[in-house]
Amino acid sequence: MRIACARLVLPDRVHTDVLVEMDDAGVVTAIGPAGPGDGSGDGPGDGSGDGPGDGSGDGPGDGSGDVRGAGLAAGPPDLSVDLAAPAFANTHSHAFHRLLRGRTNGGGGDFWRWREQMYRVAGTLDPDGLRAAATAVYAEMVAAGYSAVGEFHYLHHDPDGTPYPGHAMEMALVEAAEEAGIRLTLLDTLYLRGGFGTDLADAQRRFSDGTVERWHARWHALDDALRASHPHVTLGAALHSVRAVDPAHLAAAVAGLPGHVPLHVHLSEQTRENDECLAATGLTPTALLDRAGALDVRTTVVHATHLSAAGVAALGAAHVSVSMCPTTEADLGDGLGRASSLADAGARVTIGSDQNVVVDPFDELRRLEGGARLASHRRGVFSPAALWRAGTADGHAALAPLGTPGQALEVGRPLDLAILDARSARTVGSDPHELVLAASAADVTATVVRGRHRASSELRGLAVDAYLRQGVHA
Ligand SMILES: [Zn+2]
Repeated sequence: MRIACARLVLPDRVHTDVLVEMDDAGVVTAIGPAGPGDGSGDGPGDGSGDGPGDGSGDGPGDGSGDVRGAGLAAGPPDLSVDLAAPAFANTHSHAFHRLLRGRTNGGGGDFWRWREQMYRVAGTLDPDGLRAAATAVYAEMVAAGYSAVGEFHYLHHDPDGTPYPGHAMEMALVEAAEEAGIRLTLLDTLYLRGGFGTDLADAQRRFSDGTVERWHARWHALDDALRASHPHVTLGAALHSVRAVDPAHLAAAVAGLPGHVPLHVHLSEQTRENDECLAATGLTPTALLDRAGALDVRTTVVHATHLSAAGVAALGAAHVSVSMCPTTEADLGDGLGRASSLADAGARVTIGSDQNVVVDPFDELRRLEGGARLASHRRGVFSPAALWRAGTADGHAALAPLGTPGQALEVGRPLDLAILDARSARTVGSDPHELVLAASAADVTATVVRGRHRASSELRGLAVDAYLRQGVHA
């Protein structure tokens, strides 16, 4: 696919009149200057193809500064757009939580009360219901400009804990991602107990494999199955939390996984988790994970809301990624996270939609910066460049296995794009680089994922149709 962008917003600068060529896997094969007529609208190319450098193979850029036309094929672009940015990465999702949207706000309460409501929905889902709910929310994500999702998945078995044949729940998520056209990192989750010194509740039985060894066996069998049937899916792993895995089993759980897979874990979302962990082990959750060898560059900690100074330092020194989920953290009353402290300490900040009450990367990023401003009484804690990076490159890195090239405008690396309407009521007049603080998901008109163009209007239709198939709510 050949895409001409009149303006392409990258974290560090806005490029003008860029032509990007990519193969069917979405890997950039050539970059060069676009002709002046190529980027004027959102329609297909006008066939003029007459810009300087088009097809010449090696011409210098024509004002875009650092774009060279190495290896560009001749001919008009397949798509010409006014404004594009790299597509976003959603590093933390529970697809089925979408079913709670707009249905839990009447009764008040706290996180733990919300969790009871969530467990009631979790108890009703079979593979067909999960597939429909996930298709709905993944389609909504792609329509909003996300091209990749990390699905933190613990709904493994049937309600009494009996395994489904053929990894049915995991395959439901894989098939949903395929229908919606989103890159999936499936974070298959270890969940063994109800809490510190607490057995599994009935509602949690379907989350558990019983032992670390059985989880490893299922994980490797799933890995084999996915390699054979869906090799483009990235299989990662997750420890649900220090609540859900006995401290004595944490190190073995990590050691039994291949070293290259992404490893995600919920961390200190609630003060109660910290208090119970300290009382049971004498350590904070962060220190407990550190002792188990769970913190390194392939690790993503989710939320990391209530941290000590030592915890911030340990996470920074380990160069973990942090998945901040500001719309969820606000919805559940978790508290303001430590994103800027963590970034200063050396961690990579990313964003996740988590419970999917809101699916809007701009909202997550605006709240990330807004929370930091409220806490610090100053503006620009995260610069626009830092926000773009958190939403795109750093998020994709948290979802991709080590050694896989991250997304970038660079020949040989994958690049997905979000196409934006820069002339909506919200966006008109904004500096393109600051659109990360001005636009919304509604301004995303299309997304290009793995070299395939998807119109947001069609994806939103799919989201509604799929939701109506889920069967949990009328
Ligand atoms: Zn979560």
